[in-house]
Amino acid sequence: MKKSLYIGILIPFVMLFSSCVTAPMQTATPALYPAPTPVPFPAPARGDVIHLVGPGETLWRISKMYDVNAQDIIRANGIRNPSFLLKGQKLIIPHASGIVPVVTLYPSGKWKYIIIHHSATDSGTALDFDRSHNNKGWRGLGYHFVIDNGTKGKQKGQIEVAPRWLKQQNGSHCKASGMNSKAIGICLVGNFSNEYVSARQMDSLVWLVDRLRRHYKIPLKNVVGHGQVRGARTECPGKNFPWSKFKRAL
Ligand SMILES: [Zn+2]
Repeated sequence: MKKSLYIGILIPFVMLFSSCVTAPMQTATPALYPAPTPVPFPAPARGDVIHLVGPGETLWRISKMYDVNAQDIIRANGIRNPSFLLKGQKLIIPHASGIVPVVTLYPSGKWKYIIIHHSATDSGTALDFDRSHNNKGWRGLGYHFVIDNGTKGKQKGQIEVAPRWLKQQNGSHCKASGMNSKAIGICLVGNFSNEYVSARQMDSLVWLVDRLRRHYKIPLKNVVGHGQVRGARTECPGKNFPWSKFKRAL
């Protein structure tokens, strides 16, 4: 896959243990995009890390995330079929860099809103929410992106890209006002009814929303919290979510 087919950034995540993604899947056609712009953070030292394959993660995606050649990952793990990884599978990533979020921007006219959620849990990952949403009968992770809070082996501010984004599918995160078919759902891990959004999570959220907004020409007024959607009866993403700070940063 060509470098020009994705857009990503470098975020200084020193990985100890990372739970992530992946199962084979059909993805929508990516937009042609310039090479990713590295975020101006110091790159962490490289080292071997353990990665748990999360929903939607492929070997290609994991190799881009850690800036490690796919062949090196295949060799380190004795992978026989590189096109088939299991969710929750543990992989050794040799000589991994800090995590580079690989956020593909697809051509689409359907995305008119961005809805911010919190997980209302103290901890969690895309893999965890994929399981819990499956149990609710939502056909897997309902959001398009998850921004981690440094729990369950993830880094603070790590952006996980969900299968619904990779396949450009409707979300399952906000039924009110028919938002599931027109809104990109981003979930920050944490409960912001009684805690505060960390700087790392906020930086990642601003970075992600900014890029999505530019690409899909989504006006600022259409970037809303779940609880601000007409018909939604929820406090999500929590009374402590810093709306004015967030909007000022966009
Ligand atoms: Zn919500």
